[in-house]
Amino acid sequence: MNEQGSQRRVVIVGGGFAGLFAARVLRRAPVRVTLIDRRPHHLFQPLLYQCSTGILSEGKIAVPLRDLLRKHKNADFVLAEVTGIDTDGRRVLATRPLGDQLEFGYDYLIVAAGVQQSYFGHDEFAQWAPGMKTIEHALIIRRRVFGAFELADTAVDPAERSRWLTFALVGAGPTGVELAGQIREVATKTLRAEYRHIKPEDARVLLFDGGDAPLAPFGPELSAKAARTLDKLGVEQHMHSIVTDIDATGLSVRAQDGTVTRHEAGTVLWTAGVAAPPVAAAIAAATGAKQDRAGRIMVGDDCTIPDHPEIFVTGDVMSLNKFPGVCEVAMQAGIYAGKRIKHEVAGKMPTKPFRYHDLGSAAYLSRGRAVVSVGRVHLSGFLAWVIWLFIHISFLTGFRNRLGALVSWWPAFVRDVRRERTYTTEQVGLVHSAYDVLPPSAAGPAPSATGTEPSSRAG
Ligand SMILES: Cc1cc2nc3c(=O)[nH]c(=O)nc-3n(C[C@H](O)[C@H](O)[C@H](O)COP(=O)(O)OP(=O)(O)OC[C@H]3O[C@@H](n4cnc5c(N)ncnc54)[C@H](O)[C@@H]3O)c2cc1C
Repeated sequence: MNEQGSQRRVVIVGGGFAGLFAARVLRRAPVRVTLIDRRPHHLFQPLLYQCSTGILSEGKIAVPLRDLLRKHKNADFVLAEVTGIDTDGRRVLATRPLGDQLEFGYDYLIVAAGVQQSYFGHDEFAQWAPGMKTIEHALIIRRRVFGAFELADTAVDPAERSRWLTFALVGAGPTGVELAGQIREVATKTLRAEYRHIKPEDARVLLFDGGDAPLAPFGPELSAKAARTLDKLGVEQHMHSIVTDIDATGLSVRAQDGTVTRHEAGTVLWTAGVAAPPVAAAIAAATGAKQDRAGRIMVGDDCTIPDHPEIFVTGDVMSLNKFPGVCEVAMQAGIYAGKRIKHEVAGKMPTKPFRYHDLGSAAYLSRGRAVVSVGRVHLSGFLAWVIWLFIHISFLTGFRNRLGALVSWWPAFVRDVRRERTYTTEQVGLVHSAYDVLPPSAAGPAPSATGTEPSSRAG
């Protein structure tokens, strides 16, 4: 057997923060790494809202995984959706775009599949209220936000015009707050001088949340400051509000006293709630792992599934000690899993459990205003905004993107210019996923010689 053939096989499911950082740690280890992702890029989710509101292009917040792995001589990238695992045969089962089945043998498995948007049992809301998790979402939101002003401009009926100028956001966490502030800034600054039949600054932004205050996880002090900043921006905050229905022309909301109010809104965006992707349930079923209420896989303090020391679960899809779903947890867990494998392969038995070092959190409110919470230090206003800028620049993956982001931020922050406002008038959201199995006539070229028989890779 040649050296490569004798090396242990590590399969990583997901090229987000957890998966990518695990692959980086394993770069020089004597293992063969296969990173499988259903998308071709690593995405910097914290700046999705800037992509959807015209500040950054999609290429500035997403980098091809092949590009990121090009110097990893021991790593291969595969574009496919993992559907399950066979623990006895140690095989990962996947579907490639257009529907063929693939298999990958593993000695170690790192599950880093992240989470997806949850509509709390109302998946039917998704067709009217896109979430904010992927590039597809950001581009749909960009089209809906900028498209709404166009439809308002040509609307003859005042009620219709007012509907298109009303934007409703569900969820007052960081993403909802950031999007709400951005839409008001688009309306009051960027678009202000561009329309002749409407006043873009008349746009109403309604923010709904079932909790007491926006940005609740930042603590009462920063949360109150965020609420004041949103007020000044003109965002109408509706706390203690549960959304009961969404349709093509608006939403219905139940207040604390039980009254239900209908709000007409041309654009409804959903930023509340997350759930583990379907692959988490498949892996839990195959391994006997428990899942928490959001479907995340519960792991031991070494990030492995009980009785499966070869299967690590990292990042947002991992349920451990109520760690938050943030980049830092994902990166640190990915690094931990990678190091543990590296040590085991070298014949050292690692014993240290995973420890999360909390470096704090930050949220952008508007140009020049942010909130930052690091341990006991709570900051808001301009200083917090500068820290926010520094954090995001240092975490953006890839030098070109850092430089590109700085170049795009300059006109946006100094002159309110948003250069990335291009959108298509096609219904991007209705285009089918590459993993949907379509009738042969619609699916394009005939399937490969393997047909739907699984083909084996990496082992
Ligand atoms: C809008 C938004 C704003 C955010 N802002 C912040 C912030 O300011 N600060 C912060 O710390 N965190 C923030 N977060 C959270 C942060 O982005 C996540 O915690 C982090 O991305 C988690 O990394 P991960 O690797 O676990 O998952 P992800 O980054 O989500 O990566 C998971 C990968 O797995 C792939 N995948 C999923 N299922 C499969 C499958 N079946 N087969 C193959 N591949 C699969 C996906 O395509 C994806 O590439 C934000 C998140 C969002 C959505």
